[in-house]
Amino acid sequence: MTGPVAEPAFAVPFNYLPRQFADPRALLERVAAVVAGGDFTLGAAVSAFEEAFAARCGAAHAIGVNSGTDGLKLALRAVGVGPGDEVVTAANTFVASVGAIAELGARPVFVDVDDSLCLDPALLEGAIGPATRAIMPVHLSGAMVDMKALGAIADAHGLPVVEDACQAFMSLQDGRQAGTWGRAGVFSMHPLKFINIWGDGGVIVTDEAGLDRQLRLLRNHGLADRDTVVLMGCNSRLDSVQAAIALPLLDAAPAILARRNAIAARYDAAFAGLPGLRLPRRVAGVRHSFVTYQLFCADRDGLAAHCRARGIETKIHYPVPIYRQPALAPYLPAGARFPETDRQAAECLTLPVHQYLDDGQVDLVIDAVREFALQAAGGQA
Ligand SMILES: *Cc1c(COP(=O)(O)O)cnc(C)c1O
Repeated sequence: MTGPVAEPAFAVPFNYLPRQFADPRALLERVAAVVAGGDFTLGAAVSAFEEAFAARCGAAHAIGVNSGTDGLKLALRAVGVGPGDEVVTAANTFVASVGAIAELGARPVFVDVDDSLCLDPALLEGAIGPATRAIMPVHLSGAMVDMKALGAIADAHGLPVVEDACQAFMSLQDGRQAGTWGRAGVFSMHPLKFINIWGDGGVIVTDEAGLDRQLRLLRNHGLADRDTVVLMGCNSRLDSVQAAIALPLLDAAPAILARRNAIAARYDAAFAGLPGLRLPRRVAGVRHSFVTYQLFCADRDGLAAHCRARGIETKIHYPVPIYRQPALAPYLPAGARFPETDRQAAECLTLPVHQYLDDGQVDLVIDAVREFALQAAGGQA
């Protein structure tokens, strides 16, 4: 006899973690091996993961850290950001990008986004000033900032680029991975990200041996060896247990990417041209990783309610833009407004796009969204 099984609340759930880890035995064996070896801090599990991660990204070095947020903080610090400096980033990003900047005593300076969901490089010049010390593009949702355009502007100003690729593992522009365009790129392995471990973890990639060395020191108290502290760092090591869990997820990544892209392509084709809906612009030369799938609808809340009534769980990334959060007020010039960020926050809805959706569930989502759009249009006619 098995115990009572809770009815799934949604026919098309957003959360797939119970499915992904329904049979954790293989991963638990990997954890047991770490425990048996007593190798709990850095060591073989972390090194093996770092090498595989660097290879997967086409980067020379990968450094495992405690979280994506810590990775951003350490990478910014390693390229020279400190108190009083300004770092330019996107007005629609997740709080962590901005928190990393603020924790260094630096000031976030925001740039509006375009219809690709990412920072608009055409607006970048206007945000760069004498105190600017770095540029932090954010590849939101697995889309990519136009890194060629952004890189040209950064180079012209002699500014380092640290990519927030926390949502963009496996994304490419012109065949080059997100996170490998700037001096350093940072990834998150939070349970809601593409490589999702059993807690927190992050990775920094870089091609520069000097930055690699410095980041390894920064994440481990500045210890060059057991008894020699060469700089003041912190404890931000990737846990060995988490590295052991992360490694096999790297092998699964191509299949996850293919399934997410196949679902997104079906959504794109089904939703194109529906009245009252718009899709984010898909940029030629960019391979999206679809860590999330967003669309825009003027009656977003109506669409969300309709999906819910049809058993489809949706989310909003993010209903209140970071730049409008109360904690950001001290950092912003009075009256600062980012109209495209505001419009997207009011209209965006995130649909399930994960690799555990079957074709029938994808059909349910497509039917629900089409039904809503056509009903709404009919009601107006
Ligand atoms: C998740 C995320 C982070 C932070 O990653 P954590 O591992 O949760 O600290 C930073 N930036 C963006 C855009 C993210 O989505």
